[in-house]
Amino acid sequence: MGAQSKNRKSSPWKSFAISLLLVILLFVSALFTGIYINSNRALDAELLSRARALFSSITLTRAWVARHGGVYVEKTAGMQSNPYLKNPDRRAVDGAVLTKKNPALVTREISEIAENHGVFGFHITSLKPLNPNNKADAFERRALQLFERGEKTEAYVKEGRDGNVFFRYTAPLYVEASCLECHPTDKVGAVRGAVSVYFDIGQTEQAAMVNRVLIIILFVVTLATFLGIVFRLIAALRQKLEMAEALIRELMVTDELTGLKNRRFINERMTEEFARASRYHRPISYILFDIDFFKRVNDTYGHDGGDEVLRQVAEAAQELCREADTLGRYGGEEFLVVLPETDLEAARFVADRYREALSQLHFRLRTGKVVRMTASFGVACADFGRDAVLAESDLTATGLFTQADAALYRAKENGRNRVEVYP
Ligand code: GH3
Ligand code: MG
Ligand code: MG
Repeated sequence: MGAQSKNRKSSPWKSFAISLLLVILLFVSALFTGIYINSNRALDAELLSRARALFSSITLTRAWVARHGGVYVEKTAGMQSNPYLKNPDRRAVDGAVLTKKNPALVTREISEIAENHGVFGFHITSLKPLNPNNKADAFERRALQLFERGEKTEAYVKEGRDGNVFFRYTAPLYVEASCLECHPTDKVGAVRGAVSVYFDIGQTEQAAMVNRVLIIILFVVTLATFLGIVFRLIAALRQKLEMAEALIRELMVTDELTGLKNRRFINERMTEEFARASRYHRPISYILFDIDFFKRVNDTYGHDGGDEVLRQVAEAAQELCREADTLGRYGGEEFLVVLPETDLEAARFVADRYREALSQLHFRLRTGKVVRMTASFGVACADFGRDAVLAESDLTATGLFTQADAALYRAKENGRNRVEVYP
């Protein structure tokens, strides 16, 4: 029964703890997922703005070159003329040979310099390139198709290549008047191709990874701390509640004035023990006793004095009470002792011990007054072991109590300070 009631008690705590755990888990996870997503987004935004800046720098250069219809540079030894232009070379007045660099070539040459610096690279590309070097790769092709359909104006991706991670960005180039020289069939304003930018983000990715690990560690630590604090609080709360519950249970069966078991408890015990005796064919006895002329104590020493005496009688009776017996305050100045496994003779003997002891006591009140008192006792027994007829009778615990009460009445009638047994 103990284990069962313990289970019944602990299950609400268990479900409470599980719910709380879930709430905390949800809360902390949401918090850290938010932090995680946000920091990733911030890193990606940073990469994107870097890529856009690089893209602008090259398109601005292209725009400047385009505005001047290409630029001429002195053709130095080993320099190739642009094979895609009609007449790329000119002779200056001083006889030097100049060769024309159009926007596409300028882009490619800057890209080569940038790449040699190991910082970043550009690629000018198109779905129908004149120069095979400008052929679009998978990412660029997909982006160009989207640009041509007008579905997007930029595209980016993180891509691993030769053990490095690159951020790739591309946005469209629109046909300008200057393009028509090499691409005469194009229409001004149409998507001619794209410039794609790429740069190594190995370090950024590494920093992001460190960031991720830190966030995970912080998540675990926060969760553990949170759970630790909350579960400690719960444990403390639970202990307090259990103590309060135990106190309430104790108060429910305790007589406020004397601290003895109260009528509710003694009635229960009376019934329980009666049932047990009946089932196992054992004897059971009740002793009911009542203080003699108690009204006089109240009249003489006041109600408080009466209370003091009641408390002291209770204390004395409790000391007399055997381990297996149960003593309780039944009413005003009336007490009941339930004696399992006790036959009439033994009960009478016990009752007389109480009577004798109480009659010898001197109760000292706070006022210094000393009060002496006696009590009258009624004893009743149901000996289910010896009395076979009893088992067949309809005697109940209440019936046995009434017998003890009748015996007590007789004790009062026969002069008080005495023990009478039923019948
Ligand atoms: P008897 O010998 O016939 O039992 O006489 P008695 O005066 O004891 O009997 P009675 O039943 O006439 O009076 C009981 C008194 O006990 C009356 C009541 O005021 C008093 N009493 C009952 N409960 C308490 C209590 O809690 N405190 C105090 N001080 N007095 C109480
Ligand atoms: Mg009385
Ligand atoms: Mg009485």
